[in-house]
Amino acid sequence: MIREITVKSVLQASKLPASSHCLNPYVGCHHACAYCYARFMRRFTGHKEPWGRFVDVKKNTPDILARQLAHRIPSGSTLVGSVCDAYQPLERRYGITREAVRQLVAKKVTFSLLTKSDLVVRDIDLLQQAGSRCSVGISLAMLNDGYRRCFEPGAAAVSRRLKALKELHCEGIRTYLFIGPILPRVTDVGALVAEAAANADEIWGEALNLRCGNRNDVAKAYAAAHLPDDWELLAKDKAWLDGTITQLENACRRHGRPLFGFYNHHQPK
Ligand code: SF4
Repeated sequence: MIREITVKSVLQASKLPASSHCLNPYVGCHHACAYCYARFMRRFTGHKEPWGRFVDVKKNTPDILARQLAHRIPSGSTLVGSVCDAYQPLERRYGITREAVRQLVAKKVTFSLLTKSDLVVRDIDLLQQAGSRCSVGISLAMLNDGYRRCFEPGAAAVSRRLKALKELHCEGIRTYLFIGPILPRVTDVGALVAEAAANADEIWGEALNLRCGNRNDVAKAYAAAHLPDDWELLAKDKAWLDGTITQLENACRRHGRPLFGFYNHHQPK
């Protein structure tokens, strides 16, 4: 279901480690990732559809954002797309993210975009104007597109995301590779860093968060991918995660890229 809504605020204070504010032009996400933690947003919308099957379009985002920016410019960095992907397929039709980015650039706001879509390259002209005030993260949890279809059915193919990362980097945009979530038996952190490091200024990582009602969808994705069912034991195993983080640190060192941050949602067995 697609619904157009109006909101009173789009720029909101954030408790995320690297962001003082966040901006989400949509509620819900047609990328429909099995592991998505943002599914908690259903609670605030009344939607009964499964995660990934609904999107509310915040139609008045440009007006509200203009009003908020006229009142106050965020002091820290604003993350565009913290509980939705701001470049999900509907953005092609609505262009709301582009208009929001245009305003952030004009008002000299420091911001970061994080996406699993290559549509972001459409906005390179604006991102170039922002210079060092903006960075763009391409999120990847795997290189195998067969696994991608099981875990992230609506997101862009892996090759398209890697191509977008390269294009952004070549056009002088500050970029980062966001490896997340790290899925046991799916995510090869060393291979991802090796594939993307040349086009990423920095690397971020995130553990799998199983505390948000996503367990059954993740289990279905593992079954669809014909992977062993020990994934949950591994995801909750601190030693396994510590070993994976060490692999990630080593890969970053090998490729001369800093591991800027790691979101750890370790859940004890
Ligand atoms: S792209 Fe991000 S917000 Fe969208 S479903 Fe996937 S994890 Fe969730």
